[in-house]
Order: sequence, then structure tokens, then C-alpha cells
Amino acid sequence: MPGDVDIPREAQIVVIGGGVLGTSAAFHLAAAGQQNIVLLDRGPIAGGTTPFAAGQTAYLPANQALLPFTTYCIDFFERFAEHTGYAIDFHQNGSLRIALTEQHLSGIDARLEAAHSIGDAAERLTPQQARELAPHLDVPDAKGILFAPRDGYVEPRSVAAGYAAGARDRGVTICTRTPVTGVEVVDGAVQAVQTAAGTIRTQWVVLAAGAWTRQFSQQLGLNIRAVPVRHQAFVTAPLSGVTASQPVVRIVDTQVYARPEAGGLLVGGYGYRPLSFDMDAFPNRFEIPDLEADQIYFQQLTDAAIEAFPVLRDAGVIQERRGLPTITPDGQYLVSEVDQVQGLVVASGCQVGGIWSSPGLGRIVADIVSGQDSLPAEAFKVDRFADAYAHDTALRSQCERVYAGHYWDLY
Ligand SMILES: Cc1cc2nc3c(=O)[nH]c(=O)nc-3n(C[C@H](O)[C@H](O)[C@H](O)COP(=O)(O)OP(=O)(O)OC[C@H]3O[C@@H](n4cnc5c(N)ncnc54)[C@H](O)[C@@H]3O)c2cc1C
Repeated sequence: MPGDVDIPREAQIVVIGGGVLGTSAAFHLAAAGQQNIVLLDRGPIAGGTTPFAAGQTAYLPANQALLPFTTYCIDFFERFAEHTGYAIDFHQNGSLRIALTEQHLSGIDARLEAAHSIGDAAERLTPQQARELAPHLDVPDAKGILFAPRDGYVEPRSVAAGYAAGARDRGVTICTRTPVTGVEVVDGAVQAVQTAAGTIRTQWVVLAAGAWTRQFSQQLGLNIRAVPVRHQAFVTAPLSGVTASQPVVRIVDTQVYARPEAGGLLVGGYGYRPLSFDMDAFPNRFEIPDLEADQIYFQQLTDAAIEAFPVLRDAGVIQERRGLPTITPDGQYLVSEVDQVQGLVVASGCQVGGIWSSPGLGRIVADIVSGQDSLPAEAFKVDRFADAYAHDTALRSQCERVYAGHYWDLY
């Protein structure tokens, strides 16, 4: 049975996808004064990759041009309840970014410079100082450790739920269990959205369908350069000595991260057996929890994590998390109107960072529809690849390569 609410027959803007990007877009559009907005999801709110995220924030970029975007995001999280009316669980415990070798020191320095350029406190720590903050951390030979006190982590489902509730309070109609089956385009412009529960005439469509974005847009003849790539993490049973207030730890060389979760550690990592997917290869009813866990990925990740956290050698695993974030060939987000279809805005290419970057990405969507440019978004244009990576094989290999070097500041 589709939908909790009768779907309207007309709207100004239809948002497809109730993950963190679609809900942020709907919230920001409504907060910018746009009216007659409908958000549709084929399942519940936050029913895709969003609830499986580690929810870590990382607002200090190596590329300083991104600072206006990233500071918008962290400012927003610090005042989420003020903005939306709903509190989220933001643990602003700080983060430790650790370079084990000289090779990755420049990324630490660049982030330190970024923090200081906006007057934020961030500092280099010794391995001993870092261990005082994160008790089980054992990296005595680390070449550089950056402590960024404004970083932390959020409970990802609460973020999408907060945006959705804030959007609804501002007049957005939210229809869950309503799959969108197509977008009608007439003379190169969006005309309507077709759903399992009927057609909605609209001028604007925001496509924020997560892993399904590329596949969905293919029916419009588009070749969106963002592919779903598997990402996995696990949560250990409680470990004595782990504190709820300890910072997020990121080991750049081995691309491992760890943060406290329910008395244990949530551990994830990039570059382990990178694998992209064509969503057409899955059955129609595929949902993110159906994604098979790759046990070799988990084993390689655990082996790497043990080097920095020896306590993990004997830790029991109580939960596995996995999902399909979307990656682009240059490691940058994908958010703009599409050249070929007037009124179609894509919000994708989350780079496994969609939770923390959701305020900025939602704001850019609102800017596009409102004809404003409060955040620089030139680098995120959907059509920036021109003819590059036009073939599936080249696109998928490059996106897997980008994922494989996620922490290495290659792009
Ligand atoms: C293990 C793991 C750890 C992660 N850690 C972090 C982290 O620490 N920090 C961080 O910022 N990010 C992290 N991420 C990434 C984060 O989860 C994603 O960036 C984010 O959830 C992407 O949100 P989304 O809205 O694009 O996609 P989704 O959450 O997948 O939402 C897409 C929605 O679109 C809907 N949809 C699809 N097709 C249709 C259709 N035809 N009609 C209607 N609805 C449709 C789906 O049902 C779904 O609800 C992590 C991810 C994983 C898997």
C-alpha cells in the first residue's frame, strides 16, 4: 500500500529520497521560503544507507577552497535544534587525525592551517597526549597527530529525522512508502513526477535517491557520474577503558577510523576490497540491509585496526554496518541542476560523508531553486565531467580508485 498521506496532484518542488540528503534539501528549501514542496520515499525516512553511517563529522578540509562549505556544515550541526526545532545527538568530542608516516603530514598541516585561518582551535599532539584522550590508542611512532576539537559524531538517523520534522513543520508534505517510477520531461524541462500512487505535476525535481540516483536518471537519458561503492564498519562489545567522551580517531595511512559506541568502539575503514555496483544487477526489491557482508574486508580492516588499537585483538563484534554511499570520479560532491533537463537538481556523490556534509548540500539545493549562491558550488556541478568516464567500466574503476584512497588527499 503506497504512502501514509494522500499524494498531492501538484507541487512546486518534488524531492525524491528521504535519506539525509533529501531531507536536508527539503528542510533547506522550506527554510528558504519555498512552498508547495513534497518529499517522497519508497520506504520510510532514513531507510537507505543513512542509518548505517558512523555519523562522524570532519569539517577541516585539506583544500581551503572548501572551508565556506565545511564551516556551514559544522555551524549548522552545532545549532541543529535552533535551525530545525529538533535536537540531535551530537557528540562533539573532537577528532584525532594521525599520520603514521611523513607521506601524510602535509594533510595534517593543511588542516591545521585551515583551522587557524578561521580562528578555530586545533593543535598538534604527541602520541602520549593522544593516548590520554583515546585510552587504547597505541601509535608511539606517529609522525603527526592533529586534534580538532570541533569535530565529533552524530546519530545519523536522528539527523534525517530532525530535518524531516523541521521540513514538515514548515509545510513540506512527506509521503513515505511511495516509490517514484519516473519523471516526465517536456521540451527539456521537468513537467511531472510519476509515482506508484499517481502523478504530481511540478516545476522542480530534486533527485536524492542515494545509491539509486545513477540508475534512476538513466531512464531520462542521463549519465550521472556517481556510483554506489560498498562501505563497511563494525561495533565491538564494551571494552574497559573506552569512554563516551573520547574523540574520533582517523589513521590516515591505513584509512581506519574508530569512535566510541555503546561502551565499545565503532571501527570502519576505506580501501578494503573496493567494490562498486550497478543497481540494475540487484532485484527490484533490494534494500540496503540485503547487501552481503564481505568477510575478507572485515578481516583486513580488523587486522589494520589492531595495529593502532591492540585491544581489538580480543574484542567481540556485536554489530556490523554496511551500505552503499556514492562516489564520483574526482572525489567531489555532485549537486547542481542538470544541463540537459531544466528543473532537475541532483544531490548525490556523498563520498561516504553525506551525514556531515548534509547541511551544506541541502543549502546548495535551496540556493539553486531560489537563484542564490550563498555557498560556492562550482566544483560540485553535475555536468563537470563532460565526456570523461562516460563508459561504465571506466567510471566504476575510477570511483573504486577514489574510494581506495579516501583519506589520502589525492583529489
Ligand atoms: C558503514 C558506513 C559508515 C559511514 N560513516 C559515515 C560517517 O562517519 N560520516 C558521514 O558523513 N557519512 C558516513 N557514511 C555515509 C553516509 O551514510 C551517506 O553519505 C549518506 O547516508 C547518504 O545519504 P543519501 O540521502 O544520499 O542516501 P540514502 O540514505 O540511501 O537515501 C536515499 C533514499 O532514496 C530512496 N529512494 C531511492 N529510489 C527511490 C525511488 N525511486 N522513489 C522513492 N525513493 C527512492 C531510498 O529509499 C532512500 O531512503 C557512512 C556510510 C556507511 C555505509
